[in-house]
Amino acid sequence: LFLTFEGIDGVGKTTQVNMLAQWIREEYGREVVTTFEPGDTALGRAIRTLLLNPEHTAAAVSPRAEALLYAADRAQHVHEVIAPALNRGAVVISDRYIDSSLAYQAGGRELSSNQILAMSQLATGNLWPSRTYLLDMSVEESHRRVALIRGEQPDRLEAEKESFHQRTREAFLSLAAAHPERFCVIDASQTIGQIHNELCGDVRKLLSP
Ligand code: C5P
Ligand code: MG
Repeated sequence: LFLTFEGIDGVGKTTQVNMLAQWIREEYGREVVTTFEPGDTALGRAIRTLLLNPEHTAAAVSPRAEALLYAADRAQHVHEVIAPALNRGAVVISDRYIDSSLAYQAGGRELSSNQILAMSQLATGNLWPSRTYLLDMSVEESHRRVALIRGEQPDRLEAEKESFHQRTREAFLSLAAAHPERFCVIDASQTIGQIHNELCGDVRKLLSP
């Protein structure tokens, strides 16, 4: 079983991935592999360093180059982590996957979503998750949470960044609307416990005979 978590920064994906993994282990005694993008392989860590280098700003790096780096990270991620774990019967939960590229590189950076999709299909051998949990929250609230996590005072989001995050959030929501059989959209402004319970309820349907 392959599950993915998606959503803009600060919505609580990492927390929920870890809580859900622990719950599945305890409830079903299954091996659960938690992983993330970008950067959960040796090659991926090198790529993540390039992607998140503050000198490689949106002005300096071409959106196509950026998209190809995310795709290269994903190709290695599937090859080294996801496919082997699925092949031995483990449950795999990934913090971000293809939909992040469709939302950030196509929605946010405004590349063609058909091209990003083709790139991701090439990278993954067309491996799709059975279920994708979209943790959805307003851009303002997620921005406040990111500042809080960093121990900073939340500043006003620059107009350009604000519209980038807005386009990204909307792209996630459109993907969910286009693929209702795969997506489960969760209101991420709920408490950690409420979100966890919603997730467990859905996973129960997937794992129980
Ligand atoms: O989820 P994580 O915090 O590890 O992501 C690192 C950064 O990369 C985030 O700021 C996220 O917005 C960005 N990202 C992106 N395109 C992706 C995946 C992540 O711009 N496909
Ligand atoms: Mg995270």
